[in-house]
Amino acid sequence: MASCAICGSRFAEKRCYFCQRHVCTSCITPDDVTGSPTTVKCLDCQRKGINKISLLAVAKRNKFIFGIIAGFWVFAVFPLPFLDLTGYEAEVLATILQPVLIAAAVMSIPFIFMMLAWQKRAPKGY
Ligand SMILES: [Zn+2]
Ligand SMILES: [Zn+2]
Repeated sequence: MASCAICGSRFAEKRCYFCQRHVCTSCITPDDVTGSPTTVKCLDCQRKGINKISLLAVAKRNKFIFGIIAGFWVFAVFPLPFLDLTGYEAEVLATILQPVLIAAAVMSIPFIFMMLAWQKRAPKGY
């Protein structure tokens, strides 16, 4: 096990959500300060006032969840391989695809909010 990045303790059981360093339980910011029991924040990040990570970092840390979302989204946006569209006129195609595209756009809105929230807090079970 890695040692604590702050005090050097050998029992660094936690990992800071913001800087990804290993820290021990006595070097993390308490729940009532971070405002979330699932977010591990080291005292260094607390002192520096870091309360946000990049959207890219969020996506990287939640690869599994985003893989599922992306798969679902692709299915909604590109249902072409799943539908037999041969023989349809271009206008008919547009009529079919328009609601699908709108639905996909609407579906992605909660995910955008989720991403923004995850910049500040770790998702449940993380
Ligand atoms: Zn420590
Ligand atoms: Zn940190």
